[in-house]
Amino acid sequence: MEEMVLMPAFYKNMTRTVKLGNLKIGSKYPVRIKGMLKTPYSDIRGLIAEAKHLEKEGAEALRVAVREERDAKIAKTLKEEIGVPLVADIHFHYKVALAAIENGFDGIRLNPLNISKTTEIREVVRQAKACKIPIRVGVNSGGFKKNFSSPEALARQMVSSCGRYIRILEKESFFDIMVSLKGSDAATTIIANELFSKEFNYPLHLGITATGSYLAGVVKSSIGLGGLLSKGIGNIIRVSLTAPSFLEIRVAKYILQALNLRKYGPEIVSCPTCSRCEVKLIDIVDRFNKELIDSGLTAPIRIALMGCVVNGPGEARQADIGAAFGKKKAVIFKKDKILRNSDENNIIKDLLQEVRKTWM
Ligand code: SF4
Repeated sequence: MEEMVLMPAFYKNMTRTVKLGNLKIGSKYPVRIKGMLKTPYSDIRGLIAEAKHLEKEGAEALRVAVREERDAKIAKTLKEEIGVPLVADIHFHYKVALAAIENGFDGIRLNPLNISKTTEIREVVRQAKACKIPIRVGVNSGGFKKNFSSPEALARQMVSSCGRYIRILEKESFFDIMVSLKGSDAATTIIANELFSKEFNYPLHLGITATGSYLAGVVKSSIGLGGLLSKGIGNIIRVSLTAPSFLEIRVAKYILQALNLRKYGPEIVSCPTCSRCEVKLIDIVDRFNKELIDSGLTAPIRIALMGCVVNGPGEARQADIGAAFGKKKAVIFKKDKILRNSDENNIIKDLLQEVRKTWM
């Protein structure tokens, strides 16, 4: 059966559909999540474990760095272990791209800034066409070896480099193209992708590159990717963090869920706490979240945990299930009705019991 979702009203910019293995990307299909393997090839067991972990976390495709022709053999090893499509990330040497195609990768990424000879590009395109695999044309801001006067100037250059490359592919009657335009800041990334989407209808792979420390990276990715997705731009996302790869998948899921583009399970609604709060809410939410993850609950329900009576009863009533705290005590609401009383020490157990009864 065709997999489809109802896109939110802002998703009007339909692109072409591109197939990566069995995964359809673009047009009416949900925004996909791609992960990236970070383990070195010298640790094959670790690499396989990472790939399995990312697939379990929700990655729908995986990007693998292929530096030399012999690295391309990794496709076969990984495909024996996981079911999601694999994309080879290629730089500098077009023969590595040919090796990746030959060894069974489901897609390749080419960088217009370091594989630029038309004869070489054509050879790769012909091979990709023969094997029916897509090419992602990926430009990163760090690939330019000069300074730009503004994010807009850099974004225009990125789009123009990408556009020239696309024309070469199109001349070969090749249209299974995806594109990524990644800046190391949200502004450049947003401008570049907006410019591109006005001119082309190829699916866009969104990401911010080189995002910095974990928290800064989460913020940059949320603003950059979220800003574009909220305008209906973007078909597959890869969050880049200087952090373990499974966290990139989790952040990607939070971004998509926050925009109601995908549902990945329960969402906790909790207040920031303030001097009105008379329970240790931060600790309660932290512990509840861990227990929820361990429980394996997948139902996309809203669970409220609120610190006091100011906004607590309202949020708890609007959630599927929720608790509003008073002084050490809590009232549990379920679907807009008061269900029972609880307290600071028992709230996690009591809420989980109710969640299990109805949604597991
Ligand atoms: S819900 Fe209450 S405790 Fe939480 S931030 Fe608002 S006023 Fe403060």
